[in-house]
Amino acid sequence: MKRRLLVQLALNAPLFGLGSFGLASVLAGARADAATKEAPTRKPDRSQPAVQRRLVVIDPGHGGHDPGAVGVRGTLEKEITLDISREIARRLRGMRGVVAKLTRDDDTFLPLAERVAVAREAGADLFISIHADSAPNREARGLSAYTLSDKASDDFSFALAKQENLADGAGGIDLRHTRPQVAAILSDLVARHTVSASLMAKSSLVEGAGRALRLLDNPKRSANFAVLKAPDVPSVLIETGFLSNERDEELLRDQSQRRRIADVLSRELAEVLTSAPFA
Ligand SMILES: [Zn+2]
Repeated sequence: MKRRLLVQLALNAPLFGLGSFGLASVLAGARADAATKEAPTRKPDRSQPAVQRRLVVIDPGHGGHDPGAVGVRGTLEKEITLDISREIARRLRGMRGVVAKLTRDDDTFLPLAERVAVAREAGADLFISIHADSAPNREARGLSAYTLSDKASDDFSFALAKQENLADGAGGIDLRHTRPQVAAILSDLVARHTVSASLMAKSSLVEGAGRALRLLDNPKRSANFAVLKAPDVPSVLIETGFLSNERDEELLRDQSQRRRIADVLSRELAEVLTSAPFA
């Protein structure tokens, strides 16, 4: 399956890099077409100068009245995710050719659909949602990353997505009504790009992070996370560690360790954004 997607991606390669923020801007153009009732098959404007800037939206999980997971020593996931996300964004902003935006920059509640909307409206090239796990198995430790899938990679991933989707207080959200009114051919192209680019980003991030940080067993996972459902923005959810594990919680409470995680993830994100299919 993955191989087939990569082949399709290679076939579609000439379309990547259009506009200032990649494929998302092609889709934005298609939306504008639909809004002005012009022919949906109109070709994208190739006369725009290519600006080699990649936009990554960093999403600190939870916030406000939703604390997320609570650690064995009372650590709140929402505080860990905000601090790590801010540090990642700060590092990325110092890098050439990368633009970083946060979905929230303080302790406020943001529904999952709004997080997705921030990434889509900004025309993001990549969306990264930052979290910290909690598991019934107190021994579980390490970083892992998730992409969207109807079928979870394992029982734990299924349960985790269910738990994370409860952030909105209503058992998750249905984003079907937000599907863009775009020409079918563009929509299909964009969907294939989104899936393959998400998988590529997940693999690179996990492999890169694994050289410096402890990983969970089988760290490349998938599950039905509502926050990963943007049809036109490649999206990855990163669980930075387990607040239900004493040692992981201790590390996540330590500012220097959080900065180390941000160092590693920002470096790997910059690498991903300058590699195909993002470059
Ligand atoms: Zn979470």
